[in-house]
Amino acid sequence: MTTEKAELNRLHEKIRKCSACRLCKLGATKAVPGEGSANAEIMFIGEAPGRDEDMQGRPFVGAAGKFLNDMLMFAGLKREEVFITNVVKHRPPQNRDPLPDEIESCWPYLEEQIKMIKPKLIVTLGRHSMGRFLPGLKISEVHGQAKRAKGIWQERQVFFPVYHPASALYNPGLREVLIRDMKKIPILLKKI
Ligand code: URA
Repeated sequence: MTTEKAELNRLHEKIRKCSACRLCKLGATKAVPGEGSANAEIMFIGEAPGRDEDMQGRPFVGAAGKFLNDMLMFAGLKREEVFITNVVKHRPPQNRDPLPDEIESCWPYLEEQIKMIKPKLIVTLGRHSMGRFLPGLKISEVHGQAKRAKGIWQERQVFFPVYHPASALYNPGLREVLIRDMKKIPILLKKI
């Protein structure tokens, strides 16, 4: 095992035992640290685990995850070569939005993951994830546009906001938009 992979595994063990916020006491079963390559060039960051993710302890394995897998294909990416995680690692009850203090207490884990993996590109899935890195922007105005902003492992980093795959499940019109945005990723990656 590479040093990077071992370090990431250690962090993930810590996340699995975390009880820093209320979510682990509000019905969450398993923490979902994230999965993928420890050397990924691209990191996909969603909002929080849903029911299927909570049962399996793996990110994006339910309906939205199946759709994300299709989206990765459109971007010419394999799931195992990217890294997929969420802003919040425990499932909020009834899939409600994570509260600001829950996001805050989970933030150091995400920061640590980004510092370890050092992705060239961070793709934010949905407005909650985008808001953490690109505050004040509207997803309807900036989806599919690369943005350089204050980074975690670099002073400035490239972020690529797209709609959340679950929103395309509820709103079929967004499916084409999301496919179009995902197809831009290979070209963008070459430019960074
Ligand atoms: N939605 C998310 O934001 N993350 C998951 O892991 C699953 C669904």
